[in-house]
Amino acid sequence: MSQTEKAISLSQVKKNYGDFSALKGIDLEVSPGEFFGFIGPNGAGKTTLIRIIVGIIKPTSGIITVCGYDNLSSSSMAKRLTGYIPDRPYLYEKLTPIEYFDFISGLYSVSKERKLKVGEEMLKMFNLWDWRNELIEGFSHGMKQKVAMSAAMLHDPEVLVIDEPMVGLDPRSVKVVKDFLKDLTKKGKSIFFTTHTLSIAEDLCDRIGIINHGQVVALGTMDELKKHLKSGDSDLESIFLKITEEEEIGGELVPELAPKDSDEF
Ligand code: ADP
Ligand code: MG
Repeated sequence: MSQTEKAISLSQVKKNYGDFSALKGIDLEVSPGEFFGFIGPNGAGKTTLIRIIVGIIKPTSGIITVCGYDNLSSSSMAKRLTGYIPDRPYLYEKLTPIEYFDFISGLYSVSKERKLKVGEEMLKMFNLWDWRNELIEGFSHGMKQKVAMSAAMLHDPEVLVIDEPMVGLDPRSVKVVKDFLKDLTKKGKSIFFTTHTLSIAEDLCDRIGIINHGQVVALGTMDELKKHLKSGDSDLESIFLKITEEEEIGGELVPELAPKDSDEF
């Protein structure tokens, strides 16, 4: 990937379900090594956008590229470079973690050496090594989430797309996942994730996008978001509540918070 190439680039991405417009033209770019957080109320369109980025559903219109590869016309390259961790881990429950890693490694042609090395590292990091030969069906939601996250690392993705990574994890696991993800971005991998835990977004993200009713209503670093709200001491929760509240009252985008053509403040 060249220096100038974006990890994720979205141009005028729209999604309609019948008459309902779930995404109304999303423009967004994520750079290599960037930690990007996407937040918004329930039903705002976060999961829809994530599924479009990873190629599970098709947009009604718009262009999506991953590391420069169009996710429609070059979908197999785009998928190879992407790791996806859904909000609900869909695992084959009659498999053990080790068997599941075998299965995923087969799909992505991961070498046996890499599978064993990464599988062991990840399971040990998550304290699941002793569970490696147990059936996944007996695991808690948090344990399944950890297995899904481990499996997503096997093919060494450049871009990780994660829907609500911390749901169901205990505080120690949240810390482990936060440190792990932060470390990945330091190694140049890019992360696009959604969360309802605003303190986590504030902690981790280089930039944050706020989506409401299928539109990006604010986009920038924490400092930029604060500056634009002229609320120097606000935390992300106050910013989020203010933006989504004004949005609802006015029914229109707050003009000074709407992303400009350049996509940044
Ligand atoms: P979020 O993840 O931000 O909570 P979603 O992306 O799941 O929001 O949903 C955005 C909107 O699109 C919601 O109003 C939801 O009801 C609607 N929606 C999502 N998937 C479908 C679908 N398959 N058919 C119809 N409407 C859908
Ligand atoms: Mg969702």
